[in-house]
Amino acid sequence: MKSLQDPVSQLKGVGPKMAENLATLGIKTVGDLLTHYPSRYDDFAPTDLSVAKDKQKVTVKGTVVSDPLMSRYGYRRSRLSFRLMVGPGVVNVVYFNQPYLKKQVERSQDVTVLGTWDAPRQQVLGTKLIAKGSKAQAIGATYPANKHVRQATLRKLIAQAFEQYQNVIATLLPISLRQRYQLMERREMIKQMHFPSDTTMAEAAKRTAAFEEFFLFELRLQAIRRANRKDEGLKILYNNDDLRAFIKTIPFELTGAQKRVVNEICRDLRSPYQMNRLLQGDVGSGKTIVAAIAVMATVLAGYQVALMAPTEILASQHAEKLIKVFNGTHVKVALLTGAMTTKQRHQLTREIKTGQLNLIVGTHALIQNGVDYANLGLVIIDEQHRFGVNQRQQLREKGERPDVLAMTATPIPRTLAITAYGEMDVSVIDELPAGRQPIKTTWLKGNQANSALDFLDRQLRAGAQAYVVSPLIEESESLDVKNATDLYTRFKEHFSPEYKVGLLHGRMSNDEKATVMHDFQAGKVQVMVATTVIEVGVDNPNATVMLIYDADRFGLAQLHQLRGRVGRGKSQSYCLLVADPKTDEGTARMETMVATTDGFEVAQKDLELRGAGDVLGARQSGMPDFKVGDPVGDLKMLQIARADAGSLLATPGWDDKDENQPLVLYLKRHQLETHFD
Ligand code: ADP
Ligand code: MG
Repeated sequence: MKSLQDPVSQLKGVGPKMAENLATLGIKTVGDLLTHYPSRYDDFAPTDLSVAKDKQKVTVKGTVVSDPLMSRYGYRRSRLSFRLMVGPGVVNVVYFNQPYLKKQVERSQDVTVLGTWDAPRQQVLGTKLIAKGSKAQAIGATYPANKHVRQATLRKLIAQAFEQYQNVIATLLPISLRQRYQLMERREMIKQMHFPSDTTMAEAAKRTAAFEEFFLFELRLQAIRRANRKDEGLKILYNNDDLRAFIKTIPFELTGAQKRVVNEICRDLRSPYQMNRLLQGDVGSGKTIVAAIAVMATVLAGYQVALMAPTEILASQHAEKLIKVFNGTHVKVALLTGAMTTKQRHQLTREIKTGQLNLIVGTHALIQNGVDYANLGLVIIDEQHRFGVNQRQQLREKGERPDVLAMTATPIPRTLAITAYGEMDVSVIDELPAGRQPIKTTWLKGNQANSALDFLDRQLRAGAQAYVVSPLIEESESLDVKNATDLYTRFKEHFSPEYKVGLLHGRMSNDEKATVMHDFQAGKVQVMVATTVIEVGVDNPNATVMLIYDADRFGLAQLHQLRGRVGRGKSQSYCLLVADPKTDEGTARMETMVATTDGFEVAQKDLELRGAGDVLGARQSGMPDFKVGDPVGDLKMLQIARADAGSLLATPGWDDKDENQPLVLYLKRHQLETHFD
């Protein structure tokens, strides 16, 4: 029995070498081949010959009105000619050196001729012939190909595959959806994708293919979510009054958005299911305190919490903040990083194991062997996209199905969040604490850089603190460091002795970093010259100026993160971008930064400038590679497919119905291969 799962080697002409070549295009099975869709169609609509110019490419449809005449001459040379009635007129058609066409034309036949118009002779110099029985199509498909597999090969193999397998192409989409959206049967769709009868059919097939892709993707995601929900997790049962009492000790009022996400998280904690929630919030939106409330709830219920951050700086900063927040409570905070003595480590791991410590903050040191938790109830992963899937999984496995809260300050446009994090529940803090003034952003050309220094002078005189970010040198950390060091020396000369300048870069020891951070935090250092190590999470509310050199070398997401280091207090903050962009895209980035401080808007713009794959890093995010559908351009369709997939799964007994068996089979087959974190 033939199946679309058959390896391509089942096809005639596909040996081991060709199979290998096809694999470079991601084609392993016959099904892969049949869903290797054209990237482009050429429509061969007829040309009006009465207005055609000499040497113009033309398509002529007509009836053959003479016996085709074939003459051969010289070595492998031939000439085929016939008369063609096109509308009321008759033209001459000539093909050179394509003797095999002789078999395809005869008098009285309707054919389409593609070629070049020879106006003086009123004749078409043919290049291609579309006739009954000829392989060429009225609409030409162009496939994504590469140096291993040629267009012509793909065309031939796809035609062969369709010929032999069309009877086993089962329709996956439920009939109700096909009717509602007027979609094609799958076999017809695949046929029209590859060999469309006309452009309208090609479009219709594409619509079906895109919907099918979205629907299957959503079905898979949501099936995974449903399966996870069924999984028994921990019930974190805390005393609500105690939690309220803790929230009262927070020195500010939570924003509406913070309250909402706290409720969402707490509901998950209490529920018997394993939480898998992503907390998104722009820089400075106050994710830390939300996380702290989740920590308190978990500890009140008698469980431990592990908070993992991507860098030592961030981890120690979280720890410092949380120690303050939890001062005088039951929450005992520990910081576990790679930079500890063995003795310290032993002491700590012992106290983690016995449960004396109940909030363990750290880097990936948290997931190392030898770190065992007494009863891990909640895992928090900060800047989760910086960790690999495995690291996140390892932390999870340190407990018995602990709840998971992932946090990110890299806003993902809502349009993408749906697809990229479809298997997670998403909470969004879309409101900044009251009293924040939007950061004023200015873009200065290189020849205006001095005015940036003047501005900095004035701000420092007024008591401000500033970050200065040095140019980024692509792919070279050591050059970045050199840049920062040079800049540091120049700034020291410029500003001392009145103001103290500090230096922060990735090659410094952890102690050095901690010292300068601490001095900056304490106001002993006024100007912090840094590489992008400060990009994530560093929090000093007194810093109000961010000066970035060669800003066009940074991506939008990074610029937005850097800018987010200021504007964290009540005073007006400023971001100065010094840049002479060399590309339109670079200019667009600068303009976007000046135009908005809203991270979601920045992210949306980033998406438009760079495309989805680049924004998310397709592999890491679980973002699928759609072949036909465009999750940005076809967002509406994606949303509809998502809703329909959800309601199908929610229909009791849907998987027992005969008509849904192809879908059930599809899910069985694909769930195993899919690794969504
Ligand atoms: P991020 O979301 O970037 O992690 P933080 O949690 O570091 O933001 O919060 C940024 C700053 O805002 C911190 O200094 C924090 O104390 C303060 N903050 C958080 N929530 C509020 C609030 N509701 N009202 C006032 N200040 C707040
Ligand atoms: Mg944070």
